[in-house]
Amino acid sequence: MEEKRLDENRHLRTQLDKLLKEARRNEHTQTSFDDFAFSVVAAQGPKELFKLILDTQKKFRIDAILLCLVDRFHEVERLLTESYQRHYPGLSFIDTDTSNLLISDLPDRPILGSRFLAKYDWLINIENTTRYKSAALLPLKRGTETIGIQLLLSKNASRYTEGDGTVFLHKLSAMIAISIENCINRQRTLELGYQDGLTHAYNRRYFDERLTNEISRCLRNNTDLVCLFLDVDHFKQVNDIYGHQAGDAVLIHLVSLMTDQVRASDIVTRYGGEEFAILLPDTGLQLAHEVAERIRKNVEIQALVVNNKALKITVSIGMASLSQIKYYPGSTNAKASKQIPDNFDKRLLENADQALYQAKQTGRNQVVIKRMAINQA
Ligand code: GH3
Ligand code: MG
Ligand code: MG
Repeated sequence: MEEKRLDENRHLRTQLDKLLKEARRNEHTQTSFDDFAFSVVAAQGPKELFKLILDTQKKFRIDAILLCLVDRFHEVERLLTESYQRHYPGLSFIDTDTSNLLISDLPDRPILGSRFLAKYDWLINIENTTRYKSAALLPLKRGTETIGIQLLLSKNASRYTEGDGTVFLHKLSAMIAISIENCINRQRTLELGYQDGLTHAYNRRYFDERLTNEISRCLRNNTDLVCLFLDVDHFKQVNDIYGHQAGDAVLIHLVSLMTDQVRASDIVTRYGGEEFAILLPDTGLQLAHEVAERIRKNVEIQALVVNNKALKITVSIGMASLSQIKYYPGSTNAKASKQIPDNFDKRLLENADQALYQAKQTGRNQVVIKRMAINQA
């Protein structure tokens, strides 16, 4: 009798220990989740957002996280990746124009298991489909709209199984969705402050900020960077003859023409009035000169029709490169540093401006490269 009671006691104690352990584990998960929720609210931009996702991966020991966002006109992609140079490997975008079927087929609630993986092979590449044995597919929703999906992948077949509770995962995806939406909105707001209202090119404020970043990056990567200054020839006459509105139309036309001729990573800016600055990162003088010539020629040949009249304009372009300053006598050879050595930004702009001045002085409608005299300090 006594022996039986002791056995029962032992059994109860083991049960209790088990329950306590589980309670502690749950408490730990809850704390981790609370920490995560706090950091989500604090995420200020794409950099923090992607760090957060990588942290989630580590904290909750998830083998891989893929994130696919619904996009329209590549706006979300541009907003989230443009200012964030390091590419987050698990991030992709589906376009509302080309992938409407895929978008309408996204799930409304989390799906767990492995059977659905084949259906989402467009998201997971073949290599991953075989490597991972189970997964959780979480819709990212804001209100009734699905803004994307998140896929948590595991090499362990029993990590995510059909019929498992999904409350925690539901909360996780809701938090990520809020964070993504916050980041997009924040980037949009920032961009509004960085855009010129008339032409929608970047404004000077944006240019100045990007210039310092790009110079540091090019110095670090040992690549060259070229700055073009472009000014419309006799623009005052355009306004005087055709009116101010026609002048505005010319500026808008010019921006679309310049944007067409450069890469997406180049930065076209309205520097002020009828003067534009273009930054060509990771580009040498020779290639940049070809780009500048292409812009100049296109402006010359593509007349803009205003009030049934073909309005012809020309532009003058001055250009200078970072390497010209970097290897210039008197320069400390710049190493990677947050501080731009020797006012490289100011000197690059001065050089491009001087070249533009020369282009104006010697006939207009031409591209001039800043010439550097060897013995000049
Ligand atoms: P140059 O070949 O020497 O550059 O001659 P320019 O006539 O282009 O030079 P100037 O600097 O004398 O004239 C610039 C003109 O650009 C004067 C100004 O009214 C006009 N301008 C500046 N901003 C705008 C704008 O937003 N819209 C219009 N329509 N005109 C503008
Ligand atoms: Mg001008
Ligand atoms: Mg001017």
